[in-house]
Formats: sequence, structure tokens, C-alpha cells
Amino acid sequence: MTDAILQVRNLRVYYGTPGKPVRAVDGVSLDIGESEVVGLVGESGCGKSTLGRGILGLLPDGARADGEVLYDGRNLVAMPPKAVRRMRGPELGLIFQEPMTRLNPLLRISDHFRETLEQHEPDLTDAEVKRRSLETLGRMGIPPTRFRQYPHEFSGGMRQRIMIALALVLRPKLLVADEPTTSLDVIVEGQILALLADLKNNFGTALLLITHNLGIVAESCDRMAVMYAGRIAEEGPVREVFADPAHPYTRDLLRSTISLDTTTLYSIPGAPPNLIDPPPGCRFHPRCPNAMRVCDQLEPIEQRLDDGRRVLCWLHGPSERIPQGAGAPLEREAIGVADEA
Ligand code: SF4
Repeated sequence: MTDAILQVRNLRVYYGTPGKPVRAVDGVSLDIGESEVVGLVGESGCGKSTLGRGILGLLPDGARADGEVLYDGRNLVAMPPKAVRRMRGPELGLIFQEPMTRLNPLLRISDHFRETLEQHEPDLTDAEVKRRSLETLGRMGIPPTRFRQYPHEFSGGMRQRIMIALALVLRPKLLVADEPTTSLDVIVEGQILALLADLKNNFGTALLLITHNLGIVAESCDRMAVMYAGRIAEEGPVREVFADPAHPYTRDLLRSTISLDTTTLYSIPGAPPNLIDPPPGCRFHPRCPNAMRVCDQLEPIEQRLDDGRRVLCWLHGPSERIPQGAGAPLEREAIGVADEA
């Protein structure tokens, strides 16, 4: 990895409830290098979006964050919200899931760009605003003839391209894209994700891509982090993770993706846990086919493999911390049928 431009250290984000808090992100550490594309994957409800928002200081009221998000020598978690807000746009950008809800239907695309640039770079002339806007739109495949049109005149895929261009026009160093293709069909989804993954070539922007699309992660990301129940289960170079997943959850997640070679559908038995009261020990143990006795007693200790990967699983040790006899298989009731024809 190149030098990290963002270092997340033991980040916790809890949501308050009348009872116990929801531990949506629970001790996550992650580095993102300059111009690096990092895929963040995992089932819904595992804390991916909360992590993305926690990094950008965009958490809703009632959320509490602690730990460190280090950017340019500053800990964003400890900074006043106003100061973090000023950094969003020119330094840290976010692409949301639903482009139509973010574009004002009463404003032309040109007005969206003017407002965005005026807010962060008030000294730009009108000519510069137009040039920068058209150049960025052009790179997203939107021709200049569409510059003065309204959002409703564009397809969903084009609106998402416009949203990406609006984030990129400020030349952020890091972009967080949270499921940016949720409402799009698969062909447009592929095009948008390919565009995003190519940002490092076109803009030198680092990208944290939160997605369910493991295919695009395999094709376009440098590294990937697999999140489960508020924690990173496995993190490392995409090639290594796909070739030989080290964590049983990663293995199951990869196994459950569909490709042209798929003959049998697989789904991971059970569901991610309730993050108000997650299972003791390893949070994946109720669903894990490899669970040992230690797994429902002690939380796994993160291990670094020879190829640099980080894994949170007792299968990778440290063996001296596993109590005697606790390496035997965990006895429990069947957790469900995994294979379907
Ligand atoms: Fe499975 Fe145990 Fe590893 Fe958790 S720690 S993933 S339960 S083997």
C-alpha cells in the first residue's frame, strides 16, 4: 500500500436506544492509501454505511463516536463538526445511494455545479466554474449539451454520474461511495462502478467503495475489507483474499456470489446478529461451520498473516491463547440448511 492518507484507529460508533446502545461499528481499524481503491463488503446490517459516515463525520443525531480517524495529521473524531464540514467537498467527498433525492429538481445541473464550487472556492470566475464543471462532467460521459438541463431529464445512471461529478469537481483526496448503484440496473451499475474504480487514474482520488458487488471489488479494488457485525473480519489485497479467503465469513460470502459458473445457489445460514446484544466470543460463531469451543467464549485476537492480511479468527491463532481442549469443534444445534438446488 502507498502512504496512508486516512488511518482509522479503533473507531467505535454507537447509536443510543432507550436500552443498550447499538454497537454498529465496534473497534475498526483501516488504512486507505493515496489513490487506493478499497472495497468494503459484508451483508446488510454489518455496519458498512455507519463506518463510511463515521469516517466523514456524517453521523445522525444520537450517534456517538470514539477512536481516531486520522486525516492529514488531524483526528476528525475529535474535531468540532463545523471544522469537519469545511473539509467535506474539497478534501473528503461522499457519494450517496439515491441521486434523485440529492439533486434539487428545481435547479439545472449547471446551478448545482455553480453552488458547489461557489461554496468551497468562492474566488473562481464564472468561466472557470463552467470549465471545471464541463470538464468533470465530460469525464463522467455527460456531454456539454446537457449542462443546462434539469435532473428529471436524465436517466438514473446519468444522475448518478452527475452526483459523482459533483463530488469530484472539488478534487477531493478521498471519496466514500456508499452503495452508489443501489437503484440502477446491472449494466449501468457495472458502468458506474467501473468509473469509480478508475478514479485513481483520472483524478488521483482514493476511494472507499461500500458495495455488495463482489465482482467489481475483484476487478477494480486494490484491497478489500470484509465487515461482520461491526468489526473487520478480514482485510488485505483483493487478489489474496479472493484466491484464499482466510476467514470463514469471507469464504461464505464469496461462495454465496453468483457467477456464470454457478450451478448451485448458496446462502449463508442464519443472519447477522443484533448489534445491541451481539453473541459472546466471535460474533460469527453461531453461523460458522468451523466454530470451536473457544469461539463462543473468547473474542478472537486479530492476527497478521504472512502476506500482510489481517484476520479476526481463532483458526489463525494465537494457539497459545486457546485454552486446553477449546480447539475442539463447538457442539450446538444445526443452524440451517445452506445449500439449495
Ligand atoms: Fe469461526 Fe471461530 Fe473463526 Fe469465529 S473465530 S470465524 S467462530 S472459527
